[in-house]
Amino acid sequence: MTKIQLSLIDFPHHEILSSILNDFSNDFEFTADGVFRRIIPPLCPDCGFPMSHNGFNTYRKRILGEANIGRYLCRACGKSVEEDRTFWNNLKAGFFDIITEICLRLRLNHASYELIEQIMSFIYPCDKDTVRNIVQSAIEEMKVPAIRDIRFVHYDEQHPKAGRNQKYRLTLLDSISRQVIADELFDSKDAGTVEDFLRRNLDTHKPIFIITDLYRGYSDIFKRVFGNKATHQLCLLHLNKLIVRDFPRKTSIEQELVLCNIISAN
Ligand SMILES: [Zn+2]
Repeated sequence: MTKIQLSLIDFPHHEILSSILNDFSNDFEFTADGVFRRIIPPLCPDCGFPMSHNGFNTYRKRILGEANIGRYLCRACGKSVEEDRTFWNNLKAGFFDIITEICLRLRLNHASYELIEQIMSFIYPCDKDTVRNIVQSAIEEMKVPAIRDIRFVHYDEQHPKAGRNQKYRLTLLDSISRQVIADELFDSKDAGTVEDFLRRNLDTHKPIFIITDLYRGYSDIFKRVFGNKATHQLCLLHLNKLIVRDFPRKTSIEQELVLCNIISAN
């Protein structure tokens, strides 16, 4: 393991430094001045002459801190090389992976960029444009399940009258083929009737994307029938009315699918 020399001020950091530098052999040292380098400098890659220690380069990341990476100089041919700094890059990557995860989860749960900026001010301050970039790059890199494996259906209800009898017509349409999946008439449209209608006409074990109007009972019914396999999207026509009332925000299909992934992964 890397030999760690510590000054009195650095002493409490011994444990954390050990875990960070654990992967390096005992050819390396972390000096009392905080420089990471080989104890015995390497041979010159150009001429093979033993190189000498030659100061360090400092790499800084805002708020997080800095790392001093040793340099070596060949006194025979003048070649200068720098020590590997993957531990520093890994440290930063690990930190920003968590920051990204926090921003992404807040955003997928409809937190505004302004709100995320406020929350981040307690953790790692960054403005809302930075947050937006973090979220957008994460969504671009995220593996979204192939659309072809998900069924897209529209569910609709109509309330025709047969004489003096109120009837309820429940309809399922395949969003892609535009074909009617089921179209049935009932005397009631209570939750049990709708549940039974969905169970009989759809595969409840496969991911599904259901588009409906705003009736509030749907989400609970879909949860009971499909578990976490259903993504419920309000019809855009109805959704626009909601947005006017500043109710839930419109979410893209990609974001909904990404959210499903996160939920099902847990
Ligand atoms: Zn050389």
